[in-house]
Amino acid sequence: MAESVIIIGSGPAGLTAALYAARAQLEPLVFVGNMVGGQAATSSEIENYPGFPEGITGPELGQLFQKQAERFGARLEFDAVTGVDLSARPFKVVAYGGEYEAQALIIATGSSPRKLGVPGEKEFAGRGVSYCATCDGFFYRDKEIVMVGGGDAAVEEAMFLTRFASKVHLVHRRDRLRAEPYMQERAFRNEKIEFIWDTVVDEIVGEQAVTGVRLRNVKTGAERLHPVQGVFIAIGHTPNTGFLGGQVALDERGYILTDDRARTNVPGVYAAGDVQDWRYRQVATSVGDGCRAAMEVEHYIAELEDRVYPGKVGA
Ligand code: NDP
Repeated sequence: MAESVIIIGSGPAGLTAALYAARAQLEPLVFVGNMVGGQAATSSEIENYPGFPEGITGPELGQLFQKQAERFGARLEFDAVTGVDLSARPFKVVAYGGEYEAQALIIATGSSPRKLGVPGEKEFAGRGVSYCATCDGFFYRDKEIVMVGGGDAAVEEAMFLTRFASKVHLVHRRDRLRAEPYMQERAFRNEKIEFIWDTVVDEIVGEQAVTGVRLRNVKTGAERLHPVQGVFIAIGHTPNTGFLGGQVALDERGYILTDDRARTNVPGVYAAGDVQDWRYRQVATSVGDGCRAAMEVEHYIAELEDRVYPGKVGA
């Protein structure tokens, strides 16, 4: 029998959608993907999610979201979705572990770290190249590292890495940061962070592991080899929509197009969180998105089943 709703993704958007759908008696099935908590679970400290005045770590917040959704009957499937068929009803969802059917879908697959696309990046992934300071920072105790990027993520992660590294060289392609002023101020005050402006990484070099980066000043064209043991990259994200196979409309950046009711162009398919939001990308906004999508699904399923919906006009 088809599920009422399948939620693809277990970040703040997916697990909030799961909580609301579960409380609406829809017994949602949630595909976890890589890890519970999504991108937020890779954050060392979340200080801007209301309700946690002292801050909370990403993994802890993810576990709390999970616990709360499961308490009301959400079922988590520790599997990843590889494809969908939206051409017929119920929709088909294909995961590594099998095929499923659902009346409605909530896509909350988030986004993945963008790659630099330079020689050495792929070769040294996991051997000195990392996209997650929280996950890998520990391995760089007393080492020198490079952080590439100039946004909030790069600055936040650079500061986190100073707990371990002897020096963090923040390499940014312009002469000013994109990060919030408050974050910038903290980073400028941190003596372990050195800024390398107007500079790009052309190559990551090494043998068994990373030994350095080839840097180029974009204004002068000057090149040099900068010895470091680690390269952390935080240059934005790409939405995870490949498994949709072009069946849902995307914007020019590749994010899912939704209306103000979380609806995609396919009736019955909703999207929430970073996969449809390039601008805010906050836990707080994703939670709101997930809530909205689940409430819309609740209405959609009620109408589909021609159930009397409490509060519906004429009911
Ligand atoms: P952003 O898009 O904000 O920043 C990406 C950075 O990477 C920019 O500085 C950009 O340079 C640089 N960049 C992009 N592509 C390349 C490239 N090919 N080579 C070199 N540099 C490159 O992404 P973030 O992940 O930092 O942040 C995304 C969103 O998440 C933002 O809204 C941010 O506020 C939020 N966020 C908030 C946090 C917090 O509040 N604690 C923590 C982390 C993220 P340029 O500036 O020149 O464009």
